[in-house]
Amino acid sequence: MAEKKKKFTTASGIPYAKHEDSMTVGPRGPVLLQDYVLHEKMAHFNRERIPERVVHAKGTGAFGTFRVTHDIAKYTRAKIFSRVGNECPMFIRFSTVGGEKGSADTERDPRGFAMKFYTEDGNWDLVGNNTPVFFIKDPKKFSDFIHTQKRNPKTNLKDPNMFWDFLSLNPESMHQVMILFSDRGTPYSYRHMNGYGSHTFSMINDKDERIWVKFHVKTRQGIKNFTGPEADEMRSKDPDWAQRDLVEAIEAGEFPKWDLRIQVMTEEQSRKFRWNPFDLSKVWPHGDYPLIDVGEIELNKVPENYFRDVEQAAFAPAHVVDGIGYSFDKMLQGRLLSYPDAHRYRLGVNYEQIPVNRPLNKVQNYERDGSMRVNENGGDQPNYYPNSFDGLEPDSRREPPMKLDSDLADWYDRNENDDDHYTQPGNLFRKVMTEQERKNTINNFVGHMKDIYGPKRSDIINRQLGHFYKTDKELAMSVAKGLDFDFKP
Ligand code: NDP
Repeated sequence: MAEKKKKFTTASGIPYAKHEDSMTVGPRGPVLLQDYVLHEKMAHFNRERIPERVVHAKGTGAFGTFRVTHDIAKYTRAKIFSRVGNECPMFIRFSTVGGEKGSADTERDPRGFAMKFYTEDGNWDLVGNNTPVFFIKDPKKFSDFIHTQKRNPKTNLKDPNMFWDFLSLNPESMHQVMILFSDRGTPYSYRHMNGYGSHTFSMINDKDERIWVKFHVKTRQGIKNFTGPEADEMRSKDPDWAQRDLVEAIEAGEFPKWDLRIQVMTEEQSRKFRWNPFDLSKVWPHGDYPLIDVGEIELNKVPENYFRDVEQAAFAPAHVVDGIGYSFDKMLQGRLLSYPDAHRYRLGVNYEQIPVNRPLNKVQNYERDGSMRVNENGGDQPNYYPNSFDGLEPDSRREPPMKLDSDLADWYDRNENDDDHYTQPGNLFRKVMTEQERKNTINNFVGHMKDIYGPKRSDIINRQLGHFYKTDKELAMSVAKGLDFDFKP
């Protein structure tokens, strides 16, 4: 039997006849107000765009699987890590940071690497980047910083003055600036880069012991980057290159994989660490804190509908499961507040009911109502606690207490080593980069800094070269030479 033809309906399910011809008075007369189908189509279309993310607007995502390959139960009681072989579905969204939704994928920029693990104990979001550090270490600076990476309020252009003025006045950015201007600032594709949880988190085991932890996600495709000129070329050839690369690889059955690894630090080690272990501008050297294998990530499914799953994906570092906890990292603390806040603004207070954000386990609490409440809303069950009816009770698992002994103040860490913004980027430049990578990094700096303009040009360049000099003398002198700038250290 032939398949029954499907009928158009309005959003309220009413089949209708005319999809393309508006209702008019005579074939050439005016359009009637009563053509509801016309109004519904136009009115819905007018509302198709939701606010784009203020950062990480351009992105792509895919579903996949996480599988535990090594036993880390001695560090964490998180159910997902309870046995080797345990698996959970996951979703990852990759993005650039500063550009708008239509911006090019190969811009020099950090890349967002946001992971959602749908575990049996609720959603765990590891909302990372492709770099282990960040430009600032206090969230109060975040909006100022991001403004400088966006457009000039008058010219509406990206502005090298804003960019370098801010960075040169915030030397804590030096480490991230070094990474950004190496070729890792223009990754070849999302498949060929590492991810980092970046912040220090904690893990708690079944003996209630806490350790500090950093998460690393290492690409199995191998690190591959564009050089500056190659990235520029790809920007004009195919602005959506990274999106295309990910979708085409997965559709062709080439599922990208990453290894999840951790570094751990005991409470005692954290007190003796040379730097503040909660400072987002620093890494923990691998030599002292080696990487420990945990599991593997595979992406294997392109979402059927980009808007539904990628545009509406909402990650929050606040989403941790029992056995994983926060730390004193100030940037993490700021993000705990601001990410869910951004989602409530962009997607509404019930954003966690959107399929891509929904946990696998049942949500049970007394939150009710609110805009776009589309689940059962607690049905006829009580909407208050305590009550004599539903038998719901708080989880018995708690984080162990932590002793703090300090004064309340607007602290800025000014002890010697917390102001050391130069040792780690210096090590990266001298010890980790090859000669070719150093050359490319210098060229990338020169190519960007040459566009600093106007009466403050010399001040800004001089200040930034000063930071370079403290990081590595050869770096400073080479960039100065490339800029034809008379730099006197
Ligand atoms: P290691 O030699 O053990 O590790 C160096 C790390 O640097 C590797 O993880 C490597 O990643 C990564 N790397 C290589 N080139 C770049 C680049 N252009 N930008 C960013 N990362 C890069 O040294 P240490 O652990 O002692 O750290 C030395 C320096 O390496 C640090 O000061 C920091 O700048 C950088 N680094 C350190 C990390 C850490 O967690 N310890 C993480 C990332 C960078 P891969 O192995 O994937 O190639």
